[in-house]
Amino acid sequence: MRKAIYPGSFDPITNGHLDIITRASRIFDELIVAVAQNEEKKPLFTMRERLEMIRGAVRDIGKVKVVHFNNLLIDYCRANDIPVVIRGLRAISDFESEFQMALMNKKLCDEIETVFMMPNESYSYLSSRMIKEIASMGGAVSAFVPTFIEKKLKTKLLRRKER
Ligand code: ADP
Repeated sequence: MRKAIYPGSFDPITNGHLDIITRASRIFDELIVAVAQNEEKKPLFTMRERLEMIRGAVRDIGKVKVVHFNNLLIDYCRANDIPVVIRGLRAISDFESEFQMALMNKKLCDEIETVFMMPNESYSYLSSRMIKEIASMGGAVSAFVPTFIEKKLKTKLLRRKER
């Protein structure tokens, strides 16, 4: 069985992430979407919310499992027999940090391969950070995230403002 893991912060999941998940699920028998805790990035959504949103968004894709991890990615892969890490490449700007991370992971564990996938070009400018910025200023993000996630973003940001 060909397994792959797609790790990230997914704060929140976007149509760009979903494009990569759809493409990867056509290649692999099982795709594990793994949400990193990443407290240093100060996520807007809690781990529970991020997992719930991803599960809702991938419901119709099939062959996709959603998990969280807070240890080293490579350790998670070893413990769960996952030989492939999927990362999305949007633009040249992603390349340097992704290249560095892939090489470091290779150094830590030579048997695990990183596979880079490009989204459809219409998603190549999308990032969770930008979506949060637009939504926080009242802009519409319906073209960039599933409708139920747009609603969750609005509620969350409204609550933040009220605090
Ligand atoms: P991280 O904090 O690990 O970068 P993200 O959730 O921002 O987590 O991204 C997870 C992965 O998805 C990364 O490989 C990132 O490059 C990729 N990605 C993010 N947005 C897009 C997009 N619009 N199209 C394709 N890949 C994307």
